[in-house]
Amino acid sequence: MQTHDAIIIGSGVAGLSVALELCKRNRRVLVLDRSSLASGATSRAAGLIGQMRSTRDAIHLLMESIRIVRGIETDTGIRVLEQTGSIRVAQSNVRAKELANDVAIARAAGLEVEMLEAADVQKRLPCMRIDDISAACYCPTDCYLEAPTLAQAYIAAGRTRGVAYIEHAPVDALRSTNGRVTGITAAGTDYDAPIVINAAGPWTHLVAAYAQQPLPTCGIAHYYFTTKPEAKIAIDATHPQFRDRENRIYGRPCNGGIRIGIYEALPEHIDMAMLPADFQMGSVTADISKPLISNLISAASNRFPSITESIPMEIRGGIMAFTPDGGPLLGELEGLKGFYHCAGFCGHGVSQSAAIGPIVADLIEKGTCKYDLTQLSADRFSDWPVLQNRDAVIQSCLKTYANYYGKPGPSSN
Ligand SMILES: Cc1cc2nc3c(=O)[nH]c(=O)nc-3n(C[C@H](O)[C@H](O)[C@H](O)COP(=O)(O)OP(=O)(O)OC[C@H]3O[C@@H](n4cnc5c(N)ncnc54)[C@H](O)[C@@H]3O)c2cc1C
Repeated sequence: MQTHDAIIIGSGVAGLSVALELCKRNRRVLVLDRSSLASGATSRAAGLIGQMRSTRDAIHLLMESIRIVRGIETDTGIRVLEQTGSIRVAQSNVRAKELANDVAIARAAGLEVEMLEAADVQKRLPCMRIDDISAACYCPTDCYLEAPTLAQAYIAAGRTRGVAYIEHAPVDALRSTNGRVTGITAAGTDYDAPIVINAAGPWTHLVAAYAQQPLPTCGIAHYYFTTKPEAKIAIDATHPQFRDRENRIYGRPCNGGIRIGIYEALPEHIDMAMLPADFQMGSVTADISKPLISNLISAASNRFPSITESIPMEIRGGIMAFTPDGGPLLGELEGLKGFYHCAGFCGHGVSQSAAIGPIVADLIEKGTCKYDLTQLSADRFSDWPVLQNRDAVIQSCLKTYANYYGKPGPSSN
């Protein structure tokens, strides 16, 4: 007899959300993690949810995520979301056009967004420089959060419904019969289930390789800093998050200081296969001797002039699982029935996670979901000859990351 109906490899926000949803649908679910629960990319997320995206579906998915998290807050009593809205600013005409286009897409999708004058920007976020702003908008329903708190809420809701979690259990093999997955092996123990979900974050392509399936995703380092509370930077928890694509930065209030991250032009690929077995995401850090960090501080001071290299700050990094088009990889690939992928969330995994659970559960139950699968399915690159080569996948992911804020155009998925 099967002990579990589904096994989930990885306890980041993606795996935890899928576990919760499957359990709500009366499946017996086991989640295993190579390390502590939610200690991967999730533990390092900056914690922004920005709903303005390039397609109606991508926006609806994020709106739905916020709705689901509100429900989990009610169920668990754990407060997750800080709804202070978000500001986006543009300097050049090209960026102003980009912003106007994104506002039009957002409004057509039913997302509330207002245009702001520079003076309104200053009222909402007094520490922001406004003299070079040519256009700005405000989305009142955007939220920020602490990703570990969201993970804690998923776990609390999952535990109540019977999800089982095992930490420090690295999955090192899949088991299968006649082209169907039958279970996994973790730390020498076999676990059986007819459904296995690969939610291993930046390690996902390594887990996919257990089934000889090439998954087009790679690890890319990503950094942000958080200033200590500082009289010169007037910011508090009620202020909005912000995005400034021209300077490649985003940020939000954090514990009396400001947290600012960057999508740099020259990203750094991390070969996950080369990391030690006991690698911890918390070990990804840097100081201002790293050019990327001095560039981050300089980009931040373009928008917030009080920020300098001498301001006390904590610098944090982590590893994102990027994909060639910036969208996630969900569902089965050819060759092994019952083995589902749920990964490649780039810089949006925390924001998208709550809606990802129902999507993956629908893919398992119905083979389809209410969103456009051409932007989500794990096999959408199978026919791209150029992406059948690992180096090409890495180069393509790096380019997408570098263009993420760098190239004016529709906001990424
Ligand atoms: C610095 C940084 C800032 C970010 N900021 C934001 C943000 O502001 N907003 C946002 O939405 N997103 C943000 N992200 C992205 C977000 O953190 C990720 O998209 C999201 O956490 C991915 O969740 P996940 O569950 O797919 O992966 P992870 O959280 O990485 O979880 C995967 C888990 O799988 C486990 N695992 C791996 N291999 C195995 C194995 N063989 N056996 C068992 N377990 C295994 C790992 O230990 C890990 O716990 C940021 C990311 C970084 C790095």
